[in-house]
Amino acid sequence: MREIDVAVIAEKIAQMCISANYNLNDDVYSAIDEACQSEPSKIGKNILEQLKENADMAKQLQKPICQDTGMAVIFMDIGQDVHLVGGDLNKAVNDGVRKGYIDGFLRKSVVSDPLLRVNTKDNTPAVLHTRIVPGDKVCIDVAPKGFGSENMSKVYMLKPSDGIEGVKNAVIDCIEKAGPNPCPPMIVGVGIGGNFELVTELAKRALLRKVGSHNPIEYVKEMEEELLQRANSLGIGPQGLGGRTTVLGINIETYATHIAGLPLAVNISCHVTRHAHAEI
Ligand code: SF4
Repeated sequence: MREIDVAVIAEKIAQMCISANYNLNDDVYSAIDEACQSEPSKIGKNILEQLKENADMAKQLQKPICQDTGMAVIFMDIGQDVHLVGGDLNKAVNDGVRKGYIDGFLRKSVVSDPLLRVNTKDNTPAVLHTRIVPGDKVCIDVAPKGFGSENMSKVYMLKPSDGIEGVKNAVIDCIEKAGPNPCPPMIVGVGIGGNFELVTELAKRALLRKVGSHNPIEYVKEMEEELLQRANSLGIGPQGLGGRTTVLGINIETYATHIAGLPLAVNISCHVTRHAHAEI
């Protein structure tokens, strides 16, 4: 049994909150760069160049890529041969988020109650997803998520008879209705299967996958490619001002489901889709 002090996890999460908000991941940056070459709209191309410049400046000056530094979403895979010592893991996660958001001068965007709406002033609590996995390591992903794009996301409890066409049409409908609101070009995480609560987690986890990567299941990969083509024919374009680059990537994750259901979740994200990864 390997012992890991939760204080180490807290410190790592603090660094990751800052790093994810200052440094746009290479895959997203490359996707914007490639889109610059292929975007036929002059204004669209200009916007994509500004997005690159913004990301370059954020990295160079170590400032947030966007003013909405997000709600901190933490994914943690905990090896079953790990013994966490030194205190409460949930408290340590929130200690890390608090330190990261205060030390990194990141905007504090969390209210303690959804209706009373008092800002907690330190961006806690985080949303924490844990899984117990084989091994003696702890893998952490920190994915700050802005709500301009989160608000455009949708869950559909489709019928099995809706089939693959029903799924594709719902994804495209969600992207089309989102329009300029999620600061396109978007990155779209899609979950298919499971049940009501799992399907949304699948969609969120899909956003952790690199832009340009594909699901290993052949028909799912084909859906990702087809949906990307269709989304980029909608004409929404960079920042919604027209053009071909509406979506940089569509990542789909699937899971087994019930004979009577076809759950679908579409988690819309934006051109500053952020995540940092670490292993302890
Ligand atoms: S949708 Fe993304 S780019 Fe737009 S304000 Fe929110 S975090 Fe920033």
